[in-house]
Amino acid sequence: MGDRIVAQNFIQEDASEFSLRPKKLSEYIGQTKVKEELRIYIEAAKLRKEPLDHVLLFGPPGLGKTTLANIISNEMGSGIRITSGPAIERAGDIAAILTNLQENDILFIDEIHRLNHSVEEILYPAMEDFELDIIIGKGPSARSLRLDLPHFTLIGATTRAGLMTSPLRDRFGVINRLEFYSVDELSEIIKRSSKILNVSISEDASKEIGRRSRGTPRIANRLLKRVRDFAQVKGNGCIDYDIANRALDLLGVDDMGLEYLDRKILSSIIEKFQGGPVGIDTIAAAIGEESDTIVDVYEPYLMQIGFLDRTSRGRMATQLAYKYLNYSLPE
Ligand code: ADP
Repeated sequence: MGDRIVAQNFIQEDASEFSLRPKKLSEYIGQTKVKEELRIYIEAAKLRKEPLDHVLLFGPPGLGKTTLANIISNEMGSGIRITSGPAIERAGDIAAILTNLQENDILFIDEIHRLNHSVEEILYPAMEDFELDIIIGKGPSARSLRLDLPHFTLIGATTRAGLMTSPLRDRFGVINRLEFYSVDELSEIIKRSSKILNVSISEDASKEIGRRSRGTPRIANRLLKRVRDFAQVKGNGCIDYDIANRALDLLGVDDMGLEYLDRKILSSIIEKFQGGPVGIDTIAAAIGEESDTIVDVYEPYLMQIGFLDRTSRGRMATQLAYKYLNYSLPE
């Protein structure tokens, strides 16, 4: 299985994704409730000439958390520093980042649930009182020193809010969950991206790509680029319904937007574990994939479309999944 469409890790082509990112709240499609809320908070913070309260964004990968953080920085007119949980290894790393911030800056920490304990401890007083406690020296001569930090806004992003410690979660004033996008919203995103990429696309083609994008803008943009390649080689460069359909079939993205690994997860639950319930680690071992990848990347959408259930005893394939994959229902 070559290039995965759903893969969360950074793929080379994602660099050009940068240019597809909306820069203003008004260009950000969908997530109406989140946008409305943020618009008010941003407006109010600007009126008071204060930084925005700390914001936590959570939801599956590719739904627009990083994009939103950049938009907030744009709308606030403040600088942004981007990092991630695993990249901040020691207390000294976060201390260096914090002391280098300017007044009103935004600090974006992706995968914030992966911060280690000593780093989190530094963040608590920094978020609450904009203070940094550092220990100088070792042993009996060690002294603690308190530094004032610039007033900043922390924007945290996570795929799983449940994995965050509650002291950290409690320090965010604004907590927003991003939802999967509707087909119409994805179709809007695809039309917008086509304009930027300078390729013409028909209405029904953008709907079809949207329908197969698993509710996720990042996937919509990736599919659009692959379909564009296909249109250039096999057609006249314009994307119509027929071209879109043929390209998506070739990519192994089925009618519901499922790809190879989605089908493998479901069919292994059905074939090897009588439909479940079965533990996530057992599924992961059976198909040779990381549990975290299944939980973060594949499972949320399978649950959203009602193909997978999560019970206290494990995962179960639903009747819908049996029907979709052409299995006869168990007795
Ligand atoms: P996340 O940080 O949640 O993984 P990103 O912010 O990196 O997701 O979004 C992935 C891509 O999807 C972005 O590069 C952007 O082009 C596109 N995108 C995300 N949300 C939207 C949106 N609401 N409107 C338009 N494009 C979007």
